[in-house]
Amino acid sequence: MRATRAIIHLDHLRDNIALVREKTGTRICMPVKADAYGHGYLAIAKTALDAGVEYLATATVREGEELREGGITAPILLFSIPLPTEIDSLIAAGLEPLAGDGEYIDALESRAAGAGKKIPLHLKIDTGMGRIGCRPEDASRLAFRIAESKSLTLAGTATHLAVSDSTKTEDIAYTKKQLEIFRSAIESIRAMGINPGIIHAANTGAVTFHNDGWFDMVRPGILLYGYAPEGPDGNPAMAVKPLMELASCLSYIKAVKKGDSVSYGRAWTAGEDTLIGTIPLGYADGLPRLLSNNWQIHIMKEKSGETEAEGRPLAGTICMDECMVDLGKDSTARRWDTVTIFGGAAPHAGVMASRLGTIPYEITCQINKRVPRVYING
Ligand SMILES: *Cc1c(COP(=O)(O)O)cnc(C)c1O
Repeated sequence: MRATRAIIHLDHLRDNIALVREKTGTRICMPVKADAYGHGYLAIAKTALDAGVEYLATATVREGEELREGGITAPILLFSIPLPTEIDSLIAAGLEPLAGDGEYIDALESRAAGAGKKIPLHLKIDTGMGRIGCRPEDASRLAFRIAESKSLTLAGTATHLAVSDSTKTEDIAYTKKQLEIFRSAIESIRAMGINPGIIHAANTGAVTFHNDGWFDMVRPGILLYGYAPEGPDGNPAMAVKPLMELASCLSYIKAVKKGDSVSYGRAWTAGEDTLIGTIPLGYADGLPRLLSNNWQIHIMKEKSGETEAEGRPLAGTICMDECMVDLGKDSTARRWDTVTIFGGAAPHAGVMASRLGTIPYEITCQINKRVPRVYING
């Protein structure tokens, strides 16, 4: 196996699930879309289900099929809307679609009838996300339409929150408003004598900050992968542990002279004689090129039984398959020593994301397929 690898701490996943369970006391749906936010969905799904998670969720039909092919029998929500031509596969894989429009519901019904199956469907209500889902005033009509169908059952009613991870006053008010709209739409469904099924709304932000949004099931993604939103004090608002650690090694070490340049574009020049280490990891692996000259690589050292991590700056432009680190002229680092890019003893993917003005989701999702995932403490 190559030296560059994403180490996935499955014990952290179990701890994070326990924390969410303890806090909310509800069912948990774990989104494993996008290959479990880049962590590898079979291992994540199996560990999550072992730890008692009741539901999984994917974005595409193919993701759901791959979970089934991997032996997963738990209920799987399908968040996004597939092409009409994918509906037969959706039914064959036994996925539970989120639907909020008549055309999709009709298509699901007619394909289910054709297959002689009954599809558990979750009515998706748009309360202010502006993505998919029906208008709140249409919820009871659609719920009735689903409930009276011979080929559909109303397994749940859901909405999605746009700013639940923010502690700004106006964002808190917006989330409260979304939840209020959601609750009154549910009332309108109940008023018709229809059981709305499992009621669910809470993503990471609402699990963390809005206990009136937990209902019968919560759907936290990034929180279970170990990244909590910041509280008003700027610290993570829940004590979750990041699962992913991106590690590699020093594949080459060389001495350079003061004034020598390193990498494409000559964007870095040695201010003094120093040692430059090469790491076999680049932007094709998912290390954002915008971090060139703007991130510390942690060099791992065994010192009397303890591992010490020393942060050293990236030197020069990140290449497709390699990047360079300024080890310093007195470095004792040796070829093949382990380095950590994020997570573990180094700052986690959320810190890297802030440096780039993005979110941890994007960092972990873009760690490429070329980087093997190594699961530990399963
Ligand atoms: C991705 C997603 C979630 C999880 O969001 P996080 O911010 O990762 O907690 C929940 N619900 C829906 C519909 C989603 O698409």
